[in-house]
Amino acid sequence: MRRMYSFPRGGFVFEDPYAPCNASIETAFLPAFAVIPLIQHTGNKAYPVVFIGEYVKEGMLIGRGQGPGSANIHATVPGKVVRMASWKTIDGVANDALVIRMEGSFERLGKREVVYPWNDLPPLELQRLIAEYGIVELDAGGKPIVDILNALNVKKEVITLVIRCVFDDPWFVADRTICNERIKEVVEGGFIIAKACEAKRIVYAVSYTEKQLIDNIQKTVKTLQNLHSIQTPLSVVLVGNRYPQHNQRELELVLREYEKKETALLGRLFMISPSTLSAIHDAVKLHKPILDRYIAIGGSAVKAPKVFKARIGTRLRDLFEQCGGLTAPPARIVIGSPLAGRAALDLDEPVTKTSYAALALLEKDVGGTISRSCIDCGECRAVCPTGLDPELLYKQIVSGAKRPLALECHGCGCCEAVCPSRLPVSTTIYTAVKEARI
Ligand code: SF4
Ligand code: SF4
Repeated sequence: MRRMYSFPRGGFVFEDPYAPCNASIETAFLPAFAVIPLIQHTGNKAYPVVFIGEYVKEGMLIGRGQGPGSANIHATVPGKVVRMASWKTIDGVANDALVIRMEGSFERLGKREVVYPWNDLPPLELQRLIAEYGIVELDAGGKPIVDILNALNVKKEVITLVIRCVFDDPWFVADRTICNERIKEVVEGGFIIAKACEAKRIVYAVSYTEKQLIDNIQKTVKTLQNLHSIQTPLSVVLVGNRYPQHNQRELELVLREYEKKETALLGRLFMISPSTLSAIHDAVKLHKPILDRYIAIGGSAVKAPKVFKARIGTRLRDLFEQCGGLTAPPARIVIGSPLAGRAALDLDEPVTKTSYAALALLEKDVGGTISRSCIDCGECRAVCPTGLDPELLYKQIVSGAKRPLALECHGCGCCEAVCPSRLPVSTTIYTAVKEARI
């Protein structure tokens, strides 16, 4: 019987009746007009390398990354670039997008892919391909993978690649879908990136409830290790399902516990998601940028929540319509998980590389009709995984009494999720923390 590792304090079992299930996967309609943002990463806008009026092919480079934090952007449909759209997000970040009117034939969609061998390529060439095809962390804000690799190289430590198959949030259904549908690509992507960063070990951190996935990983790993003669030590570590186990801090806690128990030297942990590995596989083996994204669409205002395979540049509005539409005008649109996502401006925001979920919420789910004073129940203290007192911090911030230094807060959203008064506890605390860090 294998041991299961779980973080010691706080958290909760996160369930959401408005999240789609694995069984509801559909291919989204191709967008007649694809809106391709020039920021789909953490840093500067990519520089457009096509003109308005120019015809582009599917997969063609249309924006070149500009320095650290920036990544290349590619056309996801063939057609004519008809205009540049500009908008500001709710946080005031300016973005531009190239709008492509779809026309002409697809270079890749429905065609047999050419496969390029990778095992003889040196780490630097693997890194070049990953950068060339604009691969970023797909589930964690869009940091370019090549920037992470550069930072790891500078430190010259022992590196363990950690593959996060942790499904503590029902809105991570897109990653779970990738694991079900593309496990071979995920595992091979893991071997590719392990070689690119010269990792000494690979660890699959898998939710202990995912028995079928654990079997599939083990079988696929064995097959590919034999095929490519890979010797890197690899282990599967079972982890708990309490939210926020997927979070970097909580996952590191359990892996350090594993390290102690198994006396396995892990060194520096490089955590990566299955969807990012699948994209790395495609970049290196197929010379293909990220054209599609699995995205979960749901929330209390949505008639029939679904998981879509959607082209980047598809408007959220079209995906909500493909779910049968909305039951009422939404009070809030959220991109990402309801606990740690960001508010969207409107339904016209497009799917980007980092969109793994989008929700339309009714007023009742954003606290509009609920009492908004603290009843001192202590629920927020009980769930905070970092041992903070969210009630106290929240009150200090809103009263302006003093600026709390709660840098341990990582914005997991647990305190806000359980607050019966629906106070914006984590939103307020985490905003103050981010400001303090600047
Ligand atoms: S958001 Fe911050 S304060 Fe709230 S539970 Fe998470 S770590 Fe604690
Ligand atoms: S959970 Fe909400 S109501 Fe309860 S103590 Fe914390 S802030 Fe107050």
